[in-house]
Amino acid sequence: MRFSDIECHGRVADSLRRLVDAGRLPHAVLLHGQPGIGKMLLARALAQYVHCQHREGGEPCGRCPDCLQHQSLNHPDMHFVYPVFKKESSKPALSVDFIDRWKEFLESYPYMETEKWPEMLGSDNKQPVIYKDESEEIMRIASLSAFSSGKKIFLIWQPEKMNVETANKLLKILEEPFADTLFILVSNAPSLILPTIFSRTSRFGVARPDDDTVCRLLVEKRGMDPALAALTARLAEGSLAKAFSTDAGEETEFRECFQELMRKAYVRDGAGVRDLTERIAAMKREKSRRFLGYAARMVRENFIYSYGVAGLNRLTPEEEAFSRRFSPFIHAGNTPRIEREISRAETDIARNANAKIVLFDLALKLMGLLRIPSPQ
Ligand SMILES: [Zn+2]
Repeated sequence: MRFSDIECHGRVADSLRRLVDAGRLPHAVLLHGQPGIGKMLLARALAQYVHCQHREGGEPCGRCPDCLQHQSLNHPDMHFVYPVFKKESSKPALSVDFIDRWKEFLESYPYMETEKWPEMLGSDNKQPVIYKDESEEIMRIASLSAFSSGKKIFLIWQPEKMNVETANKLLKILEEPFADTLFILVSNAPSLILPTIFSRTSRFGVARPDDDTVCRLLVEKRGMDPALAALTARLAEGSLAKAFSTDAGEETEFRECFQELMRKAYVRDGAGVRDLTERIAAMKREKSRRFLGYAARMVRENFIYSYGVAGLNRLTPEEEAFSRRFSPFIHAGNTPRIEREISRAETDIARNANAKIVLFDLALKLMGLLRIPSPQ
């Protein structure tokens, strides 16, 4: 990973590489900022830069043995630490036990879609944690000598997920660091890191990229249509993870399904509604939940539109064309109830209820709700 691959955060990258070049990089560096903005990429570039044998122009060379090992995520002195979950409560749970999953995660979601990690671990609804066993493992590795690179790097993702016991053990090594050990902590929520750990790190805030940068990246890297890219960038609020996970094809499909559902529900076309909800239910569970998320957003957008505050709207031209005629049917008299029903359907599907029944039931309720006259 090279700093230039990241395409934003140039200022933080400059500070970090200057410290490395001067041999003054602190022994514990904390990169913090909102989720999904590429902090892990920055951390990985930093680690590779530290290990690279032939740095050139402020970048790792990409060709030396250390660079090659970093690029294949196999560097023997690079130790990733991240939250995991215990399969059996009596057994220790270490990051290294999930290393294959982790590499797959880094490759599939380089911007770290935080909520995807528990899914990839198959932890059901359990929240992953950095357990105390991990601190013992860090102490053990830290006490060994480094391989050829001469520097052991521990890259800790989400240090805020350490419990007190883990943090207390780790504290010892942060207080009296080994000269050949570097800690890079990457946090979405620095205020949740235990103060004892936090105070021993050198902090680097990573700012969210602005909407223009996100928009440009979507057009350049995804070939997204500029109008959709601009809207996607605004909705992503700086999260490249969110922006890049926006699937233009899926957005179009959701828009068509939503508009068709509203039309059919309004004219009380029972058979049409049944066919359509069956089609939506046939999407995978997560996708039908995303559809309901889209529907909830569209109801809010149409509510805003109906009150003539178009400057606040976040709609594509196709969505706006629909809203011009549809928004009068979304008003203070029915919006809270429509939102409640969509949210309930989403929760029911998340809990494994039969999506066909849930969605058809929702559509039947919409038939009544859309006919409620506006109180104005
Ligand atoms: Zn190199």
